[in-house]
Amino acid sequence: MSVTPFDGHAIAPETAAFLAKEHKLLIGNEWVEGTGTMASRDPATGLELTRFAIGGAAQVDRAVAAARAAFRGPWRKMTVADRTAILFRLARIMEANATLLTQLDILDNGMPGFIAGLTTANCVEMVDYYAGAVMRIEGTTIAPPRHIAAETEALTYTLREPIGVAGLIVPWNVPLSTAILKLAPALAAGCTVVMKPSEETPLSVLALGQMIIDAGFPAGVVNIVNGLGAEAGQALAEHPHVDKVSFTGSTFTGKKIVQAALGNLKKVSLELGGKSPVVVMPDADLELAVPGVALATYFLQGQNCMAGTRIFLHESIHDQMVEGLKAFAGGMSLGHGLNPASFQGPMISDAHTAKVMSYIAKGQAEGATLVCGGQKLDRPGNFITPAIFTDCTPDMAIVREEIFGPVMAVQKFSTTDLDEIADMANDTPYGLSGSVWTRDLSTAHRLVSRIRSGHVSINCHGAVGTNIPFGGFGQSGWGREFGQEGLDAYLETKAVTARL
Ligand code: NAD
Repeated sequence: MSVTPFDGHAIAPETAAFLAKEHKLLIGNEWVEGTGTMASRDPATGLELTRFAIGGAAQVDRAVAAARAAFRGPWRKMTVADRTAILFRLARIMEANATLLTQLDILDNGMPGFIAGLTTANCVEMVDYYAGAVMRIEGTTIAPPRHIAAETEALTYTLREPIGVAGLIVPWNVPLSTAILKLAPALAAGCTVVMKPSEETPLSVLALGQMIIDAGFPAGVVNIVNGLGAEAGQALAEHPHVDKVSFTGSTFTGKKIVQAALGNLKKVSLELGGKSPVVVMPDADLELAVPGVALATYFLQGQNCMAGTRIFLHESIHDQMVEGLKAFAGGMSLGHGLNPASFQGPMISDAHTAKVMSYIAKGQAEGATLVCGGQKLDRPGNFITPAIFTDCTPDMAIVREEIFGPVMAVQKFSTTDLDEIADMANDTPYGLSGSVWTRDLSTAHRLVSRIRSGHVSINCHGAVGTNIPFGGFGQSGWGREFGQEGLDAYLETKAVTARL
């Protein structure tokens, strides 16, 4: 089958110009060579988009030195008013370049255009939000300790100070968004950063790098070192002069980050995988629940940490829900993200496609019923039709493990005892997201209080927002991003007592 660049769709002139450029590493506000290059591919066609430089331990070392110098120097000394202004300036530049950022995430990641457009807008909002938070970084005054206060007048207060140099390691599934979620609060807090994008999707962060220079950030405040996880990523997580590492990615890699961070006991934030429960009670509004549950699993073709993939359907509505989900899944159009009609894009890579397909085979081998989907399309790119498995049991691999693809595992339940339902929902090492579908508010809130997840929605799923803390219970992570807690993750508290 013949393959056309971008599947025959047009790209904006600025996107074409960006792809035609050489892409290097950003260290100290200069674009520098790496140790080699890698190809960035369009997962919807398999075609090479461009090549980008990658680095290893030596480049990470240089970037950390640049970040340290900027932390000691200009960034630390900048007034909060100027720090606020520069972040707002970045937001405006991103806004003016929204088409470029959106198209790069579509091309590099394969996400449908409507999602990429939404995430770019959210990224601008996120930078604005944290720009506005800079001036609200505040300590408190506290009663001085007795042994001093008994002798003399004294004053005790706390300062909120930036942690220092932050290493930011991000995944491929929402490239710009996962980067901005770290970058914006880290800069607002006054940290300097070295960012390691995913080797699968470096492009939007590289475009952002130029916007950071254009916004006027002093040299070394933001450094970008692309490279392989085991090389550049590992070097950053281990680096003795990095004070904090914030990682988003798989639980498997998250454990390696913790090991790597042990050397200098750097602070660690982890946003990891999930296998989130979706519980549909007998009284749920099925007109709402059918599309809502389908999207819980299939949004971003299932390559979504919040994906609700363990679906619990009460027996009284099970068959009706499965029929509705099947019709919804069958109606989703798969295609290139530049095609406005596309609702679902491709898997990120050949290797990931093989992994998802192996889970579909495993589900069948373990005795689950494949109601629909689970086929790799016979066309260029890695498109898998949305799969629904019913008759699933808690021990099956498709129920226990994060697949990160369009695969829904349905379990039927007959009880209305909320403790029993919560036990089923909580039967997982993860705890990132989840949702409850019912018309009864009392049932909803009682069930929510029993579900062990960092973010639970009622009659919707994955309803995250710039100001709403997000993160995981259990093996879904350490700490929170978004909102005030996202900023706190880059601040230390210093207590000061003065004998007056
Ligand atoms: P991954 O763990 O394979 O890679 C993530 C990043 O870590 C990449 O930049 C990679 O190069 C780097 N890396 C790999 N090995 C490393 C090492 N030894 N040391 C340092 N860095 C290393 O994850 P992925 O496949 O890119 O992303 C998918 C995963 O991310 C899923 O598990 C998903 O649930 C998770 N995720 C979580 C959230 C969240 O907010 N909780 C958000 C998005 C994605």
